[in-house]
Amino acid sequence: MSTPTAADRASFAEQALRLSGKSEEEVRRTGALDKADDQVEALFAQHQRTTASPIFRAVWERRVPLELFQTPPQPASHPADAVMERSIEIVRRRHKQGTMLDANNKVSEEAMAELAGAGYWGLLISPEYGGTGAPFSRFAPFLTRMATIDPMIAGLASVHGCIGAVDPVRTFGNAEQKQRLLPLLASGKKLSAFALTEPGAGSDLTALKTTATLKGDHYEVTGEKLFITNAIPGRLIGLVVLIEGKPAVLIADLPPQENEHFRIKGYGLWALKRAYNHGLLFDRFPVPKENLLTPPVGDGLTIAYHGLNLGRLALCATAAGSMRLMLASMLPWSAFRKTYGQPIQVRELVKRRIARLAGLIVATDALTNWGSWLIDQGFRGELEGIVAKIFGSESQKEAAIELCMKTHGGRAFLHGHIFGDNVHEYLAPCIYEGEGEILGLAFFKSLAKEHGKQFFEPVGMALKQNQMKTFNPKNPLHVWKLRSVLLPYAKWMLSQSFSGNGQAPLPQLDSRLKGHVQFALDAFKTAATSLSGLMRKYQLSLADRQCRMAEASQRVQDVVVLLVTALSAQGKSEVHISAADLVCQDLQRKLLGKRPSDRFYRESSKLADLIIDGGFEQIAGVHREEIMMKY
Ligand SMILES: Cc1cc2nc3c(=O)[nH]c(=O)nc-3n(C[C@H](O)[C@H](O)[C@H](O)COP(=O)(O)OP(=O)(O)OC[C@H]3O[C@@H](n4cnc5c(N)ncnc54)[C@H](O)[C@@H]3O)c2cc1C
Repeated sequence: MSTPTAADRASFAEQALRLSGKSEEEVRRTGALDKADDQVEALFAQHQRTTASPIFRAVWERRVPLELFQTPPQPASHPADAVMERSIEIVRRRHKQGTMLDANNKVSEEAMAELAGAGYWGLLISPEYGGTGAPFSRFAPFLTRMATIDPMIAGLASVHGCIGAVDPVRTFGNAEQKQRLLPLLASGKKLSAFALTEPGAGSDLTALKTTATLKGDHYEVTGEKLFITNAIPGRLIGLVVLIEGKPAVLIADLPPQENEHFRIKGYGLWALKRAYNHGLLFDRFPVPKENLLTPPVGDGLTIAYHGLNLGRLALCATAAGSMRLMLASMLPWSAFRKTYGQPIQVRELVKRRIARLAGLIVATDALTNWGSWLIDQGFRGELEGIVAKIFGSESQKEAAIELCMKTHGGRAFLHGHIFGDNVHEYLAPCIYEGEGEILGLAFFKSLAKEHGKQFFEPVGMALKQNQMKTFNPKNPLHVWKLRSVLLPYAKWMLSQSFSGNGQAPLPQLDSRLKGHVQFALDAFKTAATSLSGLMRKYQLSLADRQCRMAEASQRVQDVVVLLVTALSAQGKSEVHISAADLVCQDLQRKLLGKRPSDRFYRESSKLADLIIDGGFEQIAGVHREEIMMKY
């Protein structure tokens, strides 16, 4: 059998989609997204790609690289610390004075300007261009701190620095673009936004329609963007367009006023309500041609995906801050509110909520720190960013509705209440920067892609060459015809059953954490055969078994959260270890389909008592909501 060419491969992938009933249009579009993903991958050195990421290796190698799941301690200080402290002071003071918002109840331009003076917008930009060059592993936990004072200000730092123009220019800009644009972004003279979504293109980025056409020394942009956070006249935005049919990113300077080429579209939006969010209408809008970013490989989606990985970790960091605010609000209220003569904080149900929320906080912290550290090590962070984004946003949603709202009862819906006022803020992260379930499918695909290429693609091509439509393993003629491509897979399967235990010994761990780490290692041992089994079972129709893929993806994600949380708790306080232990027990039970034990409930109550006594250092100093309607 001849060796398959790249063209053969592409045609097989397309054929697979066609055979599974997809339209020509969907085949073309899916191919375009796959290509964009390959191009992002090609930007990283071999050892830093998704295929070398800790999660990928834990699934497909017979040894979990534990050293890559354990975040080392951060250096004691960094020059960016002073900027962070100044920024915290400004936001705290403005909150006290009530001077954070403008007449429209949005974060005011004055507040943004004062933060600019403190260096807030330049945290991720290197000193060479006027910033302070904070490592991402310092920036992300800082966002958590900022979010305990003002989640919207933390969110805007991510809009500006991760998904906005900062990351695209510092990563993909040429020397002239960096020199010209980064100082403006670092000083906050120009604040930024990221315009990708369109009325007809959100999850499906291949449906983008906004075009840019070169006319002499500039591009003319025509089209419409929707839901763009922080987009007002005067911003410098990362604008995703199509140039000659291919996605590209232009850094567009929005004029100070609307004009015949540029209009703002307004609408009421419940979420991120303290930031401006607009639709943008472009009609032959001019952008200088030197503002086109040209990545060494790939196109505009390559650039967009790079920033989104950072944005997803930042989102998890911000969720960790918001959940601290919720927990801090629940404690005084549950001490104050009496039912049947007793404060509700003595009740098992309420204690369980307090303990669960502490567990979610330590787990989101662990994922934030771990993912950011990997980014600083040069990893692409695709899989890790997805796990952090999904867990962070889902935890925040659960915390808001199941834990915070229920504990506050009817008062949760009062104007001025942390829940009632912010409920949309707590839900929207499940949607923006990629809807969670769609991201879960992308996670599965990234994990499975290489294995598919290695073992299933050759089978598909052999089918094609032998003019066979399907492969029936019980038909000896089929097996004989495909023997040369089936043998490597048979060998791989055999290696999964017989290879010895190459796992390095566990580090010194608290006995509770050790049990969880061992559980995760055991779960990873069967992950590869389980994923491969799905690919074997569903073959070309796997793309349509979305629920099965989502479930398989979630299982791997849960194991990752469990492992990272357990490892990160080692050496921390008793309360921290206990919170980590309980959230890991929750995850184990979910994975095993088991009911909680009485002991688990007793441990939850014990942890809640420690937290009620002030033992959870994560919420020390966090503002506690005033108790509303004290009767
Ligand atoms: C508060 C807020 C702020 C935002 N800020 C920005 C911003 O600054 N910049 C920006 O560019 N965008 C921004 N967005 C847009 C956001 O990223 C998109 O809303 C998001 O990506 C989802 O796209 P969509 O709304 O078009 O949903 P759709 O793509 O219409 O999807 C709706 C649902 O359909 C289902 N679905 C879609 N495709 C499939 C499929 N193939 N298989 C199975 N199910 C499917 C999924 O469940 C999905 O969630 C923001 C949105 C909000 C709410």
